[in-house]
This record gives sequence, C-alpha cells and structure tokens, in this order.
Amino acid sequence: MLRIRNLDVAYGSVTVLRRASLHVAAGEIVALIGANGAGKTTLLEAVTGLVRPRAGEIALRGRDVAGLRTEETVALGCSLVPEGRQVFPSLSVRDNLLLGAHVQQRRGRPRHELARDLERVHGLFPRLAERGRQLAGLLSGGEQQMLAIARALMARPSLLMLDEPSMGLAPLVVKDIFAVVSRIREEGCTVLLVEQNARSALRIAQRGYVLETGRVVLEGAADELLANRDVQRAYLGREIDREAEALPA
Ligand code: ATP
Repeated sequence: MLRIRNLDVAYGSVTVLRRASLHVAAGEIVALIGANGAGKTTLLEAVTGLVRPRAGEIALRGRDVAGLRTEETVALGCSLVPEGRQVFPSLSVRDNLLLGAHVQQRRGRPRHELARDLERVHGLFPRLAERGRQLAGLLSGGEQQMLAIARALMARPSLLMLDEPSMGLAPLVVKDIFAVVSRIREEGCTVLLVEQNARSALRIAQRGYVLETGRVVLEGAADELLANRDVQRAYLGREIDREAEALPA
C-alpha cells in the first residue's frame, strides 16, 4: 500500500528525516511511535504532499507520489487525520463531513454514493448523526476527533493515516477511538497510526516502527515491540506512570 525508501526531509538547514524507510502492507495497522520532535508528523506530511522531500521515494499502491499535490494524493486513496483534529469550527458537523468528500465529488462521484458514505460514517460514529446540525467547534475533544476521522473516511481512502488521535483525550474516549480504528481496518482500510500513546497503538497494530531524531531505529511485529526492553523503557514506562497516577489513592 505504502512504501517509503530513504526519505530525507529538511526545514531550511535543519534535517528532520534521515534516510527513513518503512512500508505498510494492504490490510495492516502499522504504528509509528517516537518522542516529540522525532519527525512523525513530517513523515505523514511528506506522504500527503504537505512538505516536499529533499530525497527518497514514496510509493502509494506502486505509484510514485513524492512531490504530488495533496489533492492528488487524496484522489489516489490516501487521507490524513491531522494532529489536533483541525475540524472547521464554524461549520456544522455535516458540512465538515461533506468537505471530506469534496475531492471525490469533483471527480464525479454521484450524489447517492455520498449519502451511502454518510450512512457508513454515521454507523461508525452514531453521535455524529445525532449532532449533524451542530457547529463542529461546540463538540467535545473526543467528538471532534471522531469527526476528523469520519471526515477523512468520506474521501474513501485505501490508506488512512492518523496523527496522534489520542492526544488530550480521556482514557475511556481513547479506548473508543482505538476500537473504531480497529474496525476501520476490519472493513478493509489500511492504517498508518502515529502515536505517542505507544502501548495502545501497538495493541491494535500488527507491526510498528520506532522513529528517533528522524531515523527509523527499530521495526518489528507489534507484540515484539511491546516486549522489547528498550521500547518499554523509552516509550511504555511513562504510560505506566500516567496510568498509576490516574488510579484513586
Ligand atoms: P510531535 O510528537 O511533537 O508532534 P513529531 O515526531 O511529529 O513530534 P515533527 O512535528 O515532524 O515531529 O517535527 C520534527 C522536527 O521538525 C521538530 O524539531 C520540529 O520543530 C521541526 N519542524 C516541524 N515543522 C516545521 C516547520 N514547518 N518549520 C521548521 N521546523 C519544523
């Protein structure tokens, strides 16, 4: 589905990704974990054409997409759920969803298919159906995350890329979001999941990569990474502390 080889990205003189390589096979959830500033968002932005790589290859379903415009990568089946949701706060929930279908509609998708796609995302997120007329800015953080995922699905992606969907959300809401991501995969969509919440991400993923200061330093099956001492020390320990803090005294 996605193959990245030796990707270099720099912002001015600062190199942020260094010869990063990874692949995502059709039907997988692949987790990309790493600390703040490791380059995870930049990698997703390079795939979606939001930043231009300095070197390297990005192939989506066998087609070279490095340097394509974002609209073209969406049309080729790759949708991004951006960090911090970025819903349009002054538009209704329904209009946010319709915007997600914009590229496909311009390419001639019939209206009755649009209705079917809305039905599908409402099935995944019933609350969005109930709140269709409400302004997106008035939704809770968890609901906005659901809307951002649903909006991306309206483009009917073959590859859905999520950038830290659990950020700032309560544990129970995070659980719901990850359950939906698993369901999206079961329905046939491939997923690349960027997360700082490494434990939750690796639990639903089949494979994972660890990115450190722009380099892929480790890759493997998700259960191997969960059992890896270095991963536990660097990325899972803090979560154990946080979980402990959340327990009643
Ligand atoms: P986080 O988990 O905090 O979102 P990340 O792993 O997603 O981090 P990136 O957001 O890709 O990391 O950032 C990687 C590095 O690139 C950071 O040092 C960041 O400051 C820098 N960076 C990101 N975007 C830009 C930009 N537009 N201009 C200059 N530097 C940038």
